Amino acid sequence: MSIFQGKSVLVLGGSRGIGAAIVRRFATEGAAVTFTYAGSRAAADQLAAETGSTAVLTDSANRDAVIARVRESGPLDVLVVNAGIGVFGDALEQDPDVIDRLFQINIQAPYHASVEAARQMPEGGRIIVIGSVNGDRMPVPGMASYAVSKSALQGLARGLARDFGPRGITINIVQPGPIDTDANPENGPMKDLMHSFMAIKRHGRPEEVAGMVAWLAGPEAGFVTGAMHTIDGAFGA
Ligand code: NDP
Repeated sequence: MSIFQGKSVLVLGGSRGIGAAIVRRFATEGAAVTFTYAGSRAAADQLAAETGSTAVLTDSANRDAVIARVRESGPLDVLVVNAGIGVFGDALEQDPDVIDRLFQINIQAPYHASVEAARQMPEGGRIIVIGSVNGDRMPVPGMASYAVSKSALQGLARGLARDFGPRGITINIVQPGPIDTDANPENGPMKDLMHSFMAIKRHGRPEEVAGMVAWLAGPEAGFVTGAMHTIDGAFGA
């Protein structure tokens, strides 16, 4: 398969988990892929060597670094914003600086990266942000800041779709349910609770999310924009 042959793709947060699966998918289909990482240099170097992609250190908590990275990437055919973190615990006990850092990574970086990418993006460009089904449904306590951040991405997609649609650029949110990664391992302590909410009682695989991202980035999805695309085993149903 080579539907992304010659396409320029930037993945923010690609060193591990869902992001790494997205990097693999685009690289396998012929794209020139650059991805960012923050803490996982060894994993990033390994993935770059495996896929022929380029790994660059860019902390999504640093707004100006994110904007500069996108600008320096030149005209992108596809931007994927995957980097995201969770902070769990009692909202009354949490350090506001920690919560603001989550908002920086999960909301502000996707917003500024999307706007910056659109400055140079050609017609047919695609922006895809990884949200969460928790943007729609938050069935447990202790994750309000994460839910806020993923709900905010819904407004981002709806609004920027209006701004960029006339130029043929689409923007969409992919909303996974539980996916088996370092952040949410299938064998973790929350497994049974999470599966109790689902119709398909297993964690999804990062490759399944990458498949949805690839479809949204591909030639069949040019009329799809400003929308949320949930892949969650009916967690949110
Ligand atoms: P992981 O923790 O397994 O991987 C996170 C990735 O994001 C890593 O490559 C990490 O890079 C990168 N990243 C994190 N913080 C930063 C930062 N400050 N700057 C740059 N890169 C960063 O997470 P997942 O793969 O599970 O999650 C990926 C996305 O999917 C997130 O947005 C998450 O909210 C979302 N999601 C995940 C679900 C799940 O069940 N796994 C469910 C729903 C949504 P590095 O290690 O180099 O810092």
